Amino acid sequence: MRRILIRFDDICPTMDYIQWNRAMELCDQYGIKPLIGVIPYCQDPELMIEEEHADFWDYILELQKRGYMIAMHGYRHVYDSKMRGMVDLVNRSEFAGHQYEEQFRRIYEGKRILREKGIQTDIFFAPSHSYDKNTLKALKENGFNYISDGKSKKVIKREGILCVPCRSGGCPRMGRNGYYTAVFHTNSGKEKQYNQLVDLCKNYKDDIVCFEDFCNQEVGNFFLQSISENYLSFLSIQLENGIGILSRY
Ligand SMILES: [Zn+2]
Repeated sequence: MRRILIRFDDICPTMDYIQWNRAMELCDQYGIKPLIGVIPYCQDPELMIEEEHADFWDYILELQKRGYMIAMHGYRHVYDSKMRGMVDLVNRSEFAGHQYEEQFRRIYEGKRILREKGIQTDIFFAPSHSYDKNTLKALKENGFNYISDGKSKKVIKREGILCVPCRSGGCPRMGRNGYYTAVFHTNSGKEKQYNQLVDLCKNYKDDIVCFEDFCNQEVGNFFLQSISENYLSFLSIQLENGIGILSRY
């Protein structure tokens, strides 16, 4: 059995609406309900692509009504820590390395802004997959229950948060069995990512599920899954350093 979750990152009022709308048309055509990561208070200059759309938040609420699942994607999407997170590859983070209190504040503020716009969510994922134990603790304290992240093979519970693995930063190579999260960035991927999305929708339509159904899987043994996660993180770092061979991830 194979299950695929489609996730879109970096949804914000100044995103590239041309690419986004193309992706949404495809999702609607195939009846796909993706997980979309909305940035509560985007300050990332790289994501200032179009003029801010005044109806952005109404539009997000509309998507929610249509069955799209909303996640909070960071707070400002600004990297101001050089610490590597628990599972990420890069030395930049909005969360990892910051004191618990600061992480709590950012998560609290992000959630408050979303609530103000009428959006309730208990799902989170951090920019650049970068988070640490304090992030998970602060998420739990702020009423979050899920992150779409981690490199374990199965879902695991850590600090009271269900970590629903997202083992690659893009569209993973599909095996016959297992759970796969395919990540798309409509702001930067342009044609290559769009073509990957087309292939995914065409070839794996029946395996693509919504976040709720994707989470309906057996929770893995924490110890064994941690080993698997650490191993994959280690190999990914080697790959980043140019000496790894883990191309299939
Ligand atoms: Zn992002």
